[in-house]
Amino acid sequence: MKDHYGRKINYMRLSITDLCNLRCVYCMPEEGVEKRPHKKNLSFEEMIGLVNAGVGLGIDKIRLTGGEPLVRNGIVELVKEIAQIKGIKDLTMTTNGILLAKYAKDLKAAGLNRVNISLDTFAPEKYHKITRWGNVDDVFAGIEAAEEAGLKPIKINVVLINGFNDDEIETFVNYTRENKVDVRFIELMPLGQSPGFAENKYISNDEVLKRMPELKPIVQREKSSPAEYYRLPGAKGRIGLINPISKHFCKECNRIRVTTDGKIKPCLHSNQEIDVLALRKEGMTYEEILLKAIEEKPEKHHINENEKQLLRNMNEIGG
Ligand code: SAM
Ligand code: SF4
Repeated sequence: MKDHYGRKINYMRLSITDLCNLRCVYCMPEEGVEKRPHKKNLSFEEMIGLVNAGVGLGIDKIRLTGGEPLVRNGIVELVKEIAQIKGIKDLTMTTNGILLAKYAKDLKAAGLNRVNISLDTFAPEKYHKITRWGNVDDVFAGIEAAEEAGLKPIKINVVLINGFNDDEIETFVNYTRENKVDVRFIELMPLGQSPGFAENKYISNDEVLKRMPELKPIVQREKSSPAEYYRLPGAKGRIGLINPISKHFCKECNRIRVTTDGKIKPCLHSNQEIDVLALRKEGMTYEEILLKAIEEKPEKHHINENEKQLLRNMNEIGG
């Protein structure tokens, strides 16, 4: 299905919990988030209802995200049910990888195609600091388990943070020499909790190209991916640059996001939301609700024009 601006919307990102087993400082408050009563969150049945309706309207790519999707009880069952919906070409998950060693095999068997794993640093103490308590060895074990299970191609997401991990740009890029993974640098976004944190820690992804001039562009932009891809000569893996701040990709935006409490966000950088549970109570079908959300999708975001502060934290939206 196409929106007002001729963009084909075929990608749904579903945040299946806003709870998490880490507390990345740019994403969540240290005390975590309060657990909502069950009925205020989408149930698995309601999520599947939305996905089914979305597929009927042309959605063929689903990403499960969060919070941390692997802390949600019944995750493997949910993957299995979504994987059985005919018409989905790509079923993926974004995870911090901490529990992946435990779940990778079962997720693959249930029908998950691949995973994006977030890892902002290779250094154990720095990882502990940015996540407030995580153990980076769990993520390495998760990456290995995902590879073994065939959840490929693996993409590693690195939020670039000035003064924290810009000194590891070379290390991350060199990691792709021997590892067949995509390492994708993401610009730090001023959302929810993070504006204070992000203020002097944002750096543009241009820094990656400045530090590693040997990187050669492969394709400017893959269809349906916001990343621009590069490769070191002879490297097995690729480097992706995701530049929501320095070069927004609104023109090619093909996605809608659904929060855990059932709000459709037509645009990540806007406070506009469509309340699925309220509209269901008014008698609208999932299909009608999705069409309304797509109808209301804005042409572009105004993040660089100091739009009023974005209210939700990333753990509620899913990235
Ligand atoms: N817990 C999972 C994880 O960390 O991969 C999935 C949810 S997390 C919100 C999804 C992605 O959003 C992660 O790659 C995370 O690093 C990124 N993220 C969170 N807050 C961000 C921010 N303020 N700017 C840029 N990326 C952010
Ligand atoms: Fe949790 Fe992911 Fe947010 Fe980190 S980025 S606090 S792992 S939801």
